[in-house]
This record gives sequence, structure tokens and C-alpha cells, in this order.
Amino acid sequence: MTCTSSAPDDLLFRAEQGGCLSREEILELLSLNDAEHVEHLYRSADRVRAACVGEEVFLRGIIEFSNHCMNNCRYCGLRRDNRQAVRYRMDDDEILDLAEAIEDRGCGTVVLQSGEDLHYTRERMCAIISNIKARTGLAITLSIGQRPFDDYRAFRDAGADRYLLRHETANPELFAELCPGRSLEDRIQCLRWLKELDYEVGMGCMVGLPGQTAEDLADDVLLIRELGADMIGIGPFIPHEETPLKGSKAGDAGMVLRMLAVIRLVTRDTNIPSTTALGVLDGDSRMKAFKAGANVFMPVFTPQDCAKRYEIYPGKGDVKKADGAINDFREFFGAMGRPMGKGPGGRRKRP
Ligand code: SAM
Ligand code: SF4
Repeated sequence: MTCTSSAPDDLLFRAEQGGCLSREEILELLSLNDAEHVEHLYRSADRVRAACVGEEVFLRGIIEFSNHCMNNCRYCGLRRDNRQAVRYRMDDDEILDLAEAIEDRGCGTVVLQSGEDLHYTRERMCAIISNIKARTGLAITLSIGQRPFDDYRAFRDAGADRYLLRHETANPELFAELCPGRSLEDRIQCLRWLKELDYEVGMGCMVGLPGQTAEDLADDVLLIRELGADMIGIGPFIPHEETPLKGSKAGDAGMVLRMLAVIRLVTRDTNIPSTTALGVLDGDSRMKAFKAGANVFMPVFTPQDCAKRYEIYPGKGDVKKADGAINDFREFFGAMGRPMGKGPGGRRKRP
């Protein structure tokens, strides 16, 4: 298909119809800066969201079960070298009880998230997954980082449905600089394995990483399209005092919203959350995201004492938890005419 560049309104019209966007055109949409065109971008993404995934907002209850991490990502407060972090691990029963609470509150999915913590061995994770499956009707999403293929296969066999592994940035040099000892190539290999194992796969990136350009963000969109992500999480980078990136600037909420809208236009029927990080940076933008393409909300069910210590970025531990957050959002979604989704809310299977 030939992709041609055009004025913003023509380009938006073509994007809304599902036309193929070139790198230059994606960049043009991400760079929109007059309020009227930005509003048109949001409205186009909102219409595509309504047509492709409907009005429902799906809830994914998240349990942050361990903040131990053997990795040393330069942006993250859980990094191995942060000696100020007070570490915790939940035991299996605690995780199971929280999963039941998530189902009781009307969420169809539990997200199990942690640092890269091999204390939770393949066997232990499989036991947690199969016990949740035995005791609830929840879909299970894992977000526990890079593991060998055989671990991913065992988790899938035990009943895991989805896997979130953000690619973080599509710029291989920036990735290598920010994630010591890791490569973008290996991360992409993990994403390909997860696809091969028939997980619904989540990708995503941070916006505003030091050294990241608008071209890098256009490449993030292209990589997400190329690998066929089913879920896409986009959040601002927020600097943490106990990391080498302290003192850097945080990402821009407007750019996060434009990324989200462009990704909706490009990926059509995917599941896209309005992220916690966006809410921490700017509460209004977290709501705005639901008018710019988002259809998923992820309330935190981690108990307060642990949540305080799951400090990926500052302010993360202070977000309103479970019931409080769900009530706030229920009111907001009600006013928008958007019902809470029932059931697991996976990506609609294509014929
Ligand atoms: N350890 C797993 C991993 O890295 O895939 C899952 C947990 S990790 C804390 C979840 C996500 O947090 C990362 O993929 C990253 O995008 C995001 N994150 C880490 N540090 C951040 C920061 N300073 N600001 C915003 N997001 C951050
Ligand atoms: Fe660990 Fe994930 Fe944080 Fe990297 S982003 S340090 S892997 S918790």
C-alpha cells in the first residue's frame, strides 16, 4: 500500500478509515500542537474505539506481589541497586485471597505484577496460576518480566491468558543504555515467544525518557503494529530520586495522549488502558484518555503497606486503591455513558 502525506484533517480522515500510516505521517500526528487538530485526533481515536471495541470499560485488578528485582533499569525505583527500597514478597495464599477480592469487586481479570524475582520459580508461579483458575473465573495476566521460553510455556499451560511485557523503547541504543545488560532484541524475542504460545500480548513504552525523540515514539508505534500487540500500555516517564535518572524531566501528558490516540487509530481493536502513571502525572489526563482511545482501567488491589513500597516512580503508592478508585471511575464512566465491562474482556478473536 502506498502511504502519502497530507494536511492534518485529510490525514486524520484516512487514519480513521484504517488507512496505512507511514512513519512520517505518524510523526505528523504525534507532533500536532494546535488545540483544534489535537481535539480532532482525540475524537477520531474515540470513534474508532467505539466502533472497534465498543463502549464498555474493562477493569483489570492488579496485584503487585513482589518488589524484589534482579534487574537494574536506570529509570525504575525497584531497580536492584536502590538500597533505600524496602523489599517485600507476598505469600501464595495472600495472592489468592486478593484475586478472590478482585473477582468479588466485579473485575474480570487479575494482573499479577512484580519485579524480576526468581524467588517465584516456574513451579511456584504455575501453582499460583492454577489455584487462581481453580478458585475464580478470572482471566490471568502476568507482568513479571523476561523469562525463558519454557517458563512462558509452563505458565500458559497452567492457565495464564495474557502477558504484559512493555518493549519500553523501540530505539535499541537507548534501550541498551537504560537497561544495563539487556537488549531490545532479546525483549522482542520474548514478545515473539509469547505470541507463539498464543498469549494475548501487551507491549508499550514510556514517553519522555531522557534522550528519546519524537522519531523514537513513531518507531514505537511501528513496532507495536509490526508485532501485532493485543494490549498497549503507554505512560509518561516519571523520574525517581533513588535512580540515576533523578533530576530528569518527566514525560509530557499531552504527548502520552497523542500516542494513545495514534495507537488506537493504527491498532483498531486492541485493549488500551489509561495508565496509573498518567494519572499520577496529571489526574485530568487519565480521564481524558478515555475520550482519546482508552478502554481499560486497572485498579490497584495491592494492600496499602506493600503498595507504598512498590514505588516504581514517586506518587505511585499514593493512588487510590480498589473500591475507592472503582467508585470514582464508576461515576465518571456513568456520566460518559460508558458501562463497566462484564467478563474477562479479552481482545475479540478475529475470524
Ligand atoms: N518487572 C516487569 C517489567 O519490567 O516488565 C514488570 C513490572 S515494571 C515495574 C512495569 C513497568 O513500569 C515497566 O515496563 C516500565 O515501563 C514502568 N516503569 C518503570 N519505571 C518507571 C518510571 N520511572 N516512570 C514510569 N514508568 C516506569
Ligand atoms: Fe525491575 Fe521491571 Fe523495574 Fe526493570 S522496570 S527494574 S525489570 S521492576
